[in-house]
Amino acid sequence: MADTILVVAEQREGRLNRVSFETIAAAQSLAKDTGWSIEAVLAGDNLSAPAAELASKAVARVHALEAPALAAYTSDAYVHALKAFLAEKQPALVLFPHTYQVRDFAPRLALALDRALISDATGCRFENGKLLFTRQMFQGKFSADVSFADDTPSATLRMATLQIGAYRGDEAQAGPENTTAPVEHVTAAVANTPPRVTPHEVFQESGQEAKQAVDLSQAEVIVAVGRGIKEQKNLALAEALAQVLHGEVAASRPICDNGWLPLDRQIGSSGQTVAPKLYFALGISGAIQHIVGMKGSRTIVAINKDAEAPIFEIADVGIVGNLFDIVPALTEEIKKA
Ligand code: FAD
Repeated sequence: MADTILVVAEQREGRLNRVSFETIAAAQSLAKDTGWSIEAVLAGDNLSAPAAELASKAVARVHALEAPALAAYTSDAYVHALKAFLAEKQPALVLFPHTYQVRDFAPRLALALDRALISDATGCRFENGKLLFTRQMFQGKFSADVSFADDTPSATLRMATLQIGAYRGDEAQAGPENTTAPVEHVTAAVANTPPRVTPHEVFQESGQEAKQAVDLSQAEVIVAVGRGIKEQKNLALAEALAQVLHGEVAASRPICDNGWLPLDRQIGSSGQTVAPKLYFALGISGAIQHIVGMKGSRTIVAINKDAEAPIFEIADVGIVGNLFDIVPALTEEIKKA
């Protein structure tokens, strides 16, 4: 697979994470210049449904890497299985979506394979025979092009993760005349022994309730609240709006720092990066550390009583006003629609 880009797609409980299509779109744009072919791999168990969904895209092959030990995510089992698979296949480039799971296991995987990993890139291109990845520096104030030290044509196992929203998943091209790629079911080389790290521990902060982190990158609608919400009990307003829109509630950092919402709901440079179809920013000023985590959202609606708030610079729809008047009225109108 020396002339292949391998996309490591993601699924949870048998459902394909849509951000996998963003990574396929990135691979397709690179393949135009490199001439490399694209394959995809999914780790888990009983992967027929998500593998078939992946195979609908213009990829040469989908590998379903299956084992009972991969049914629930653990970093140990994923690293073990993918290490063996990648070491055997030796693709030129391995691309991942920069999800919570990938942030957890990809650095360990790169270390296990003794390869470099470029993380959280906002773009990739092939220029003058070199693979270049754009990374944001200083909270997004600057961008830098980063390349691999070993960038010879025969180099393999170069690894990079792509920021959520950096590419459009709906631009991932389907197979020619809607043909589907072959799916190869591979038994993963991973022992069915209890993992060293359990799924419940993976993203757990000390003292917090043990549970798997919410992956906001999968949400199509996010209702995010900031300090303008004033009190924890007022979160109910955002939850009601999120409910009628079938969305998820998220927050700026002060809300999570206060313990009003768990840390896995924080958006921004020290939280999650998201790119939903619709992002509500309720009482959020628009500090750079927040914006870097949500600026890729398709439509941003900001409600803020300060007309000068920086969030309005990136909002598609800006409403200057008191969120305590606007949000309940909006929720009621949506309920009627
Ligand atoms: P504020 O800046 O206080 O804004 C509150 C807004 O609510 C104001 O614009 C106000 O006009 C509006 N408002 C008040 N009342 C109402 C009302 N009744 N109706 C409508 N609007 C109202 N922040 C993050 O979000 N995510 C991060 O990951 C993150 N990481 C950081 C990392 C570092 C290293 C540092 C230094 C900071 C980080 N921050 C992060 C913090 C960031 O700098 C800001 O302090 C934070 O984003 C501000 O949150 P906010 O917009 O909710 O609050």
